[in-house]
Amino acid sequence: MQIQKINSIIQKIKQPSPESIQLAIGELIYDEKEFNEQWKQAVYKTPLQNIKLNIRIIPAEQQCMVCFLKYHPTQKETACPQCKSVGAKIISGEEFYIDEK
Ligand SMILES: [Zn+2]
Repeated sequence: MQIQKINSIIQKIKQPSPESIQLAIGELIYDEKEFNEQWKQAVYKTPLQNIKLNIRIIPAEQQCMVCFLKYHPTQKETACPQCKSVGAKIISGEEFYIDEK
């Protein structure tokens, strides 16, 4: 995930910072370990340092542009499981935003 995305999320958190926030993150861009490290760096020595994060993963869904099958890419593959063509359109899985309560 790009650190710019994390920084833009951080700027959107209202002040004074809440105790916890829920982030919705698309499966395709989420890597737990990487994200935790990037988040830690981004909030280091800021008022958000101790904020509690709840992560909601948004499942990935792609649609084949040849046979129009919608499928869940299990290995982040881009080839259609039905007709094997590549170049699927990503329907969901790249989101990154704050879930409003
Ligand atoms: Zn297909």
